[in-house]
Amino acid sequence: MAQHEHVRVAVIGSGFGGLGAAVRLRREGVTDFLVLERAGSVGGTWRDNSYPGCACDVPSHLYSFSFAPNPDWPRTFSGQQHIRAYLEHVADTFGLRPHLRLDHEVTVMRWDNDELHWVIETANGSTITADAVVSATGPLSDPKLPDIPGLAAFPGKVFHSAQWDHDYDLSGKRVAVIGTGASAIQIVPEIQPKAGRLTLFQRTPPWVMPRMDRAISGAEKWLHRALPFTATARRGLLWGIRELQVGAFTKHPNQLGLVESIAKSNMARAVKDPALRAKLTPSYRIGCKRILLSNAYYPALAQPNVDVVDSGLSEVRGSTLVGSDGSETEADVIILGTGFHVTDMPIASRVVGADGITLAESWKDEMQALRGATAAGFPNWMTIIGPNTGLGNSSMILMIESQLNYMADYLRQLDVLGGRAALDARPSAVGAWNRRVQDRMKRTVWNTGGCTSWYLDANGRNTTVWPGTTAEFRRATRSVDLGEYEVIRPPVTHSTAQAVTEEAAR
Ligand SMILES: Cc1cc2nc3c(=O)[nH]c(=O)nc-3n(C[C@H](O)[C@H](O)[C@H](O)COP(=O)(O)OP(=O)(O)OC[C@H]3O[C@@H](n4cnc5c(N)ncnc54)[C@H](O)[C@@H]3O)c2cc1C
Repeated sequence: MAQHEHVRVAVIGSGFGGLGAAVRLRREGVTDFLVLERAGSVGGTWRDNSYPGCACDVPSHLYSFSFAPNPDWPRTFSGQQHIRAYLEHVADTFGLRPHLRLDHEVTVMRWDNDELHWVIETANGSTITADAVVSATGPLSDPKLPDIPGLAAFPGKVFHSAQWDHDYDLSGKRVAVIGTGASAIQIVPEIQPKAGRLTLFQRTPPWVMPRMDRAISGAEKWLHRALPFTATARRGLLWGIRELQVGAFTKHPNQLGLVESIAKSNMARAVKDPALRAKLTPSYRIGCKRILLSNAYYPALAQPNVDVVDSGLSEVRGSTLVGSDGSETEADVIILGTGFHVTDMPIASRVVGADGITLAESWKDEMQALRGATAAGFPNWMTIIGPNTGLGNSSMILMIESQLNYMADYLRQLDVLGGRAALDARPSAVGAWNRRVQDRMKRTVWNTGGCTSWYLDANGRNTTVWPGTTAEFRRATRSVDLGEYEVIRPPVTHSTAQAVTEEAAR
């Protein structure tokens, strides 16, 4: 049966962003909120990506909430099951369950100019109204399927890395993996021993650095539990090292040459065949695309049951996969490691703002948001991991926590304004912020490194990565500058005008 609820805040999504927002809301004393999640459980990225080998590539003690340290991380780079369990634990520990509405996919949210609230509709027929929306639907949550002629008619099995079919047995099969991004390089070493034949279709080779992964000892766990400041110090050190690297990515890409030599020796150690090494050697500056970490990827590619087609996949003819170089490969199964809708976030076409246009229309030339959070014409709507908040070398949880500071101050400012009020980012403020970000972007390795990557949108603009340190972003999002916003009050109707006059007369 259709329900209708009103809440102060509706959070969309229950990954790190949505759960982090929920914890922060409770800590701010806001209990009148819901978390709407399309899936049947929490976890976001770490619920959906269950492919073999899935793990974080930022150390776990940094890739976790500062307010919920976990002394029991099993490895320096923990696996998907452990990160997912951590997020379930956060939902329990911080009392978030009563706020969760699972299996509630948001189909549309519309700003109501009269009531000054959002009207949110979900796929299961409920309507929820909310004074403010925190959209935490994830930067990498909607799989991108490649537009390859003939793929739809492939007679075998096809699945995306984020939708792994655990019932499908790869043993002895002719497996084709499409893509060489972060997911593909974790998958390949895991499935190579099982596959009869594995063909990797590569468009651009990634730079792959050694992965300093190891089990965390019982003594370390004990120490972090008994003396929590040791875990804080460990986190601080992991953070500090990454902050020091930022200048090379953002201002001095030439300094990254040294890092390239480490990556080249990582390859040379495992790949002895010069022809294969040539295929796997990138021709762009390291860091331009995300730097990947693996000790197992190159050794797997050097195995006799593996082929690398370095021209990419151009067509599928029945069960034959045709490379752009004309090569033909027979396959039983195609695994798509083809990434996500990043610069064309699907949620944007479901958000309808004050002028009746969608966020996707408003962002048709370029996605942009004030301090990575708010968009002009979309009052009281903010996004977690919005435009230009991504990182190339550190933990996204640092950025999420900065955005939660901003969210908390935004809600405080609404309280101070009192009554029913809304804040709408001024177009001039959004424009100025975006110009500053794009100016700084010009010198970065992501723009000058000579590659195309998923950081860039269809127009070649980098609308995803933050061109600075996480400390700079923390400062920029510490509080809301009201000068950057227009305050909106409810329209004066005949009855409100009369009430105000009567009040004044008393
Ligand atoms: C395989 C993989 C590995 C990664 N490893 C790292 C790493 O090591 N370090 C790092 O910093 N980052 C990593 N990332 C990036 C990662 O996406 C972020 O770190 C973080 O998990 C994002 O959290 P989020 O809550 O913003 O988004 P998500 O975790 O994607 O959560 C978004 C949630 O919103 C829900 N949702 C979406 N649309 C709707 C809708 N219309 N209605 C209701 N619910 C909706 C989704 O179901 C999902 O639960 C990785 C990403 C992937 C895919």
